[in-house]
Amino acid sequence: MRTIYESLEWHEVRITAHAAAQYIPLKYGEAGSRGPRATLIAGTHGDEGPWSAVATKMLCRHAAARLTGRLRIIFTANALAAEVERRNSWIDSPNPLDLDGVFPGDTHGSHTNRLAAALAPLITDSDAVIDLHGGGTWCVNAFVKQFEGSEQLAADIGAPFITKAPNKPGGLTTYARSLGIKVVNVEVGGRCGREIYWAERIVTGLERALHRLGVLALDVLPSPIEPAVHVSATEAIRAGVGGIFVPTLREDTVGTIVPAGTEMGKVLDLHTLAELEGFTAPYEQTAMLLLRPQICTVEGSALVYVIGRPA
Ligand SMILES: [Zn+2]
Repeated sequence: MRTIYESLEWHEVRITAHAAAQYIPLKYGEAGSRGPRATLIAGTHGDEGPWSAVATKMLCRHAAARLTGRLRIIFTANALAAEVERRNSWIDSPNPLDLDGVFPGDTHGSHTNRLAAALAPLITDSDAVIDLHGGGTWCVNAFVKQFEGSEQLAADIGAPFITKAPNKPGGLTTYARSLGIKVVNVEVGGRCGREIYWAERIVTGLERALHRLGVLALDVLPSPIEPAVHVSATEAIRAGVGGIFVPTLREDTVGTIVPAGTEMGKVLDLHTLAELEGFTAPYEQTAMLLLRPQICTVEGSALVYVIGRPA
């Protein structure tokens, strides 16, 4: 039995990069020869990529014979950002650019603009685009952003929470949506002790989504673990002051709802360990979309939580 992974045909686009290497590769793999095309893209943000890339490879354990459509996979969209575990690469001048903010790119622009220009044709010839993000190096999250016209795709992913996608100018998903392509933004996983749990949830979500899109035929479709909760009024909470962040809510809490008054975590003075700031769940039902599960040092204004209220 040949798996999807074994049958991926690899393509490479060279993107101008730093002096020593001159170019870095943007690689994408394709399997399946006819039918609707779904493009899975991970690592647009370099610090969020490896978790969903690993999940996407796990999906590829299915037999290639099960493909009823065409599957395109980009495991690492932003390699220079990935190697430094940063959201953006360092190479753009004068300022780093957010790859997820410069679509459809510019072939004469700086590195990130050129990268977007190389990715754009892989978006435009797709019937569906699944844009895989995640909590990243210090955060873990558990939601999807739903786009008008792609509600079913968002539901199929099976994340604990569904939010409405903001219209992010230059965003990959915004670009895909403007072309009438079905699209979802997956914000699931990140560095924590439950990485494989979340990866498996992404896999079953991709299975449901690809089955419904007519790309992957499965005999038995995994049911979602829990009904998704639609969340409105999401709010990013940032540290008011830098220091040592000590979470009370840990990795088992992301994707759940906690009552008002729940102690979430605190920031301690880096020098004296005095408590500088505490975070408490503000809503009667506070949905934990993103949190930092581990003790870490934060700069003032660092993102520590994303919360919301059930719609
Ligand atoms: Zn991201």
